[in-house]
Amino acid sequence: MTADEAGYLRDESRRTGRAERIVFAADEGDVRRALDEARLNDWPVTMQGARTGISAGAVPEGGLILNLSRMKHIGSVADRRITVQPGALLSEINAEVAPQGLFFPPDPTETSASIGGMIACNASGALSYHYGPTRRWIRSARVMLAGGETLTLRRGEQWAQGNRFALKTDSGSVIEGALPALKMPLVKHAAGYYVQSDMDLLDLFIGMEGTLGVITEAELDLLPIPSVRQALTAFFPTEAGALAFVRFLRDDGECALPMAPVAIEFFDADALDLLRRAQKETPAFFHLPTLPASCAAAIYVELHGGDAAALDPTVLVIAGALPSFGASDNTCWFAEQPPVLDRLKTFRHATPEVVNLLIDERRKTCPDLTKLGTDMAVPDAAMERILARYHGDLAAAGLESVIFGHIGDNHVHVNILPRTQAEYDRGKALYREWAGIVTALGGSVSAEHGIGKIKVALLEVQYGAAGIDEMRKLKRLFDPDARLNRGNLFTR
Ligand SMILES: Cc1cc2nc3c(=O)[nH]c(=O)nc-3n(C[C@H](O)[C@H](O)[C@H](O)COP(=O)(O)OP(=O)(O)OC[C@H]3O[C@@H](n4cnc5c(N)ncnc54)[C@H](O)[C@@H]3O)c2cc1C
Repeated sequence: MTADEAGYLRDESRRTGRAERIVFAADEGDVRRALDEARLNDWPVTMQGARTGISAGAVPEGGLILNLSRMKHIGSVADRRITVQPGALLSEINAEVAPQGLFFPPDPTETSASIGGMIACNASGALSYHYGPTRRWIRSARVMLAGGETLTLRRGEQWAQGNRFALKTDSGSVIEGALPALKMPLVKHAAGYYVQSDMDLLDLFIGMEGTLGVITEAELDLLPIPSVRQALTAFFPTEAGALAFVRFLRDDGECALPMAPVAIEFFDADALDLLRRAQKETPAFFHLPTLPASCAAAIYVELHGGDAAALDPTVLVIAGALPSFGASDNTCWFAEQPPVLDRLKTFRHATPEVVNLLIDERRKTCPDLTKLGTDMAVPDAAMERILARYHGDLAAAGLESVIFGHIGDNHVHVNILPRTQAEYDRGKALYREWAGIVTALGGSVSAEHGIGKIKVALLEVQYGAAGIDEMRKLKRLFDPDARLNRGNLFTR
């Protein structure tokens, strides 16, 4: 590795790894040659897309880095579908299809993510409240296995029989085996392999975090861009008021809205304070809208519709309801046109970015620090209970934090912001304790970011040692030497 290539030893988790060599594949032939080279040298192989992942999935632990960012061909649209290479970025795909009035709905807010990384992690984001995760929008995929064979997986064509499966490779050999017996939580979930009895086998490769093969191509489903996109950010004097407002928004019984929300996002008081500081101190955030002086929480709601006449009343119904939750419709921000809406979205996306900058600053005095960012989802009934638990534990441990994220899916990111190693250790212990509570409530230890290398211990909390062992056996069917993305999901 040259000094210029050192940046490829890390991703947005800020963890740094090590590698012998990096290959920038331009096509499937390059991918196969890189895998051959790794086999000859007995090296592990770590795949990289755009390295925006925050679980260190793309951080190498020795061996060869297989970087897919130059495989970025985007085909033409046919029947609202498009075929892309894995290095194509979400922003590039959407820019390509927008002139035809189409968009790719999954939105991990980080538009510089690559489609290969999004499929590998089953990425979600704010809009998955309505549109679901990446999985729902993948029609087919080509996957190269560690030995160089390829699989072409088309939705609806290859099925498991109960928990048994037999997959034919493109050269005609058959890989047979059993799916792990894992109980999938009934919440947003991206932790470990996705398995179901009688499942479509394409789904096994979505969310596998590069541990089963290299995604070399995918066909995506697209949707017409909604002709109306509007949003509202409301500020609440109490967090309880904000949470009651969330229930109002998503509970059909209480709220007969003409148009259903597509995203419901949450900011706690600490997240709003951090953004307020960034607005004053960090030039990159000077352009953010000015926040009200004091508030305990904010909720961002986005609405998509095809009929402007039907949508306007929705925003007004929502704004009109705010006083019953202690909020004022005078202080909320409306976005009635996409340019203003993009500004509100930038505000939402700024939260994790400001956190990352803060941690980079703290690493100057304590280099081993990283952000401790949770990614856990709980069932509906547990939303208020888990938030109260997070706040109580953080206060008792004396830890600085911000809480924000996808409250519509009962999925918030608690970002613990340690200043010292001792605080980091306290935060890590809390994170582990919460994983036990969340799984006992029927939740997931990772709803969208994946397990990567950072959350391996949490996957064991979710599925136990026996479940991990079954996943390991599944991996060995596709990757007998455990060469691909070693260290992701579980240790060897
Ligand atoms: C500020 C910020 C906000 C974010 N918000 C969200 C959010 O709201 N929701 C969300 O889901 N994510 C979010 N993310 C995380 C990240 O954007 C997603 O996980 C994204 O899917 C990663 O894509 P990537 O191309 O950067 O993948 P990388 O980071 O390069 O890789 C991610 C994983 O995929 C594997 N991989 C990459 N390409 C391939 C391939 N072709 N074949 C097989 N395996 C491969 C890698 O080995 C690694 O394990 C956020 C990130 C940032 C920085």
